[in-house]
Amino acid sequence: MSIGGDQLRQELAALVGRDHLLGPDELSTRPAGIWRADTLQAAALVRPGSTQEVSDVLAWCRQHGVSVVPQGGLTGLVHGADASPEQVILSLERLRQIESIAPAQRAATVQAGVTVQALQEAVEAHGLQFPLDLGARGTATLGGCAATNAGGNRVIRYGMLRNMVLGLEVVLADGTVLSSLSPLIKNNTGYDLKQLFIGSEGTLGVITRLCLRLWEQPRSHAMALVGVADFAAVKRLLRHMDQALGGSLSAFEVMWRDFYRLVTTPPARGRPPLSGDYPFHVLLESQGADPEHDRERFQTALEDALAAGLISDAAVAHSEADCRDFWSLRDDVAQTLNGGATMIFDVSLPIDEMEAYTRGLATELDSVLASHHLWIFGHLGDGNLHVAVQVANADFNTARPLVEAAVYRPLAAFQGSVSAEHGIGLEKKPWLPVSRSDAEITVMRSLKGALDPAGILNPGKIFSPASG
Ligand code: FAD
Ligand code: ZN
Repeated sequence: MSIGGDQLRQELAALVGRDHLLGPDELSTRPAGIWRADTLQAAALVRPGSTQEVSDVLAWCRQHGVSVVPQGGLTGLVHGADASPEQVILSLERLRQIESIAPAQRAATVQAGVTVQALQEAVEAHGLQFPLDLGARGTATLGGCAATNAGGNRVIRYGMLRNMVLGLEVVLADGTVLSSLSPLIKNNTGYDLKQLFIGSEGTLGVITRLCLRLWEQPRSHAMALVGVADFAAVKRLLRHMDQALGGSLSAFEVMWRDFYRLVTTPPARGRPPLSGDYPFHVLLESQGADPEHDRERFQTALEDALAAGLISDAAVAHSEADCRDFWSLRDDVAQTLNGGATMIFDVSLPIDEMEAYTRGLATELDSVLASHHLWIFGHLGDGNLHVAVQVANADFNTARPLVEAAVYRPLAAFQGSVSAEHGIGLEKKPWLPVSRSDAEITVMRSLKGALDPAGILNPGKIFSPASG
């Protein structure tokens, strides 16, 4: 950066207004993210109030060789929105308008800073649902979710965020506004440019507006928490429920025994809905349109599963409060953070390989660490497991590379992914080659070079420049 910090702040304040620029002192009181003890650092944080202002800021930064880090709700878990003291943070927090909801088209157009929960609540009034759902719903922004191609709890039914994006407005590194805000589901008119930006973690463009697909709101909702005796039965249960429910299965979340015990025992607030202690607990949810018939079908599917020995016991939700209680067990990941330093992973692998992978992981951790906790849970219906490993605070720096190697290395043999949903950011950069070939990474670098030749947009995230 050739320009001084004071001049930078003065010139950027002229673009967004003095009230919408924060300097290093003010940033030092803002946390760097959810579950983070450190605070933000940057030469400045700017809060543009329109797409035009985003464009002005990027054009100015490009001209002065200043790099820019886009930030949404700061709930990302891979240090993708971290900035350094000479960079500028571009926060989308003022772009919070739900611009339109079109019930006939089943589409909503929103600014990038709108939170997931705000959109979920707004579309309910129209009898519609926006089905992306994750624990960070109240804070995570739709721009941030698109930038990380967020997954969450209902991917098995509705797909990842990519499947919900009809159109995007993006500002490129040189300030060009690229508007692909089409509300069409089918649109085969050349390259589907919006796909480039979904999951690009802020390295190719700043997402400013989104046109999102909506679905009809379900009229019925059935849930159960079941105990399962072994992993073979978990796999058979998934197919059984999907077949028996005829496409209405909307969640299949699995908790390994240690995670279930953690979230149902004090200091956790949750209590076990089943009296037995099983190797696996599965949270099943179905969404349908006919409350009476759907409840009956769900009940029959469970009874058949019990008769076939796929499940050992079941607790069925009788009210919305029961559903919330079941979900709150699965969502209580924060329990893994108590009492030590915890690393949380989001790996993907074929379901047939999961048992061998998790057994191998437990054995490897036992052999490389003197003491630790291992908790496994996740969106098993989508092939996505979360792994949480906790070590004593004092051991964190020595344990981290050992734990990462134990979690990531075996994935190559299973054609697994080092990130199912959280992205690469800074945290997983060294491990990208486990899941991506040299040829793939070379094409990613070419795309980066084509769209951001000066390398000013979130530089160093996902991969380093070719020479780095
Ligand atoms: P940030 O954290 O601010 O940014 C994330 C990345 O996107 C950064 O690289 C940033 O530079 C970039 N970015 C942000 N906004 C923009 C924009 N407008 N344009 C371009 N780039 C941008 N993820 C899942 O996929 N599934 C889950 O089930 C899930 N559960 C979670 C539960 C909890 C409790 C928490 C804390 C997180 C969870 N996450 C989950 C992580 C998830 O990635 C984030 O919640 C969300 O996708 C990021 O949104 P954000 O607005 O907070 O983005
Ligand atoms: Zn998840």
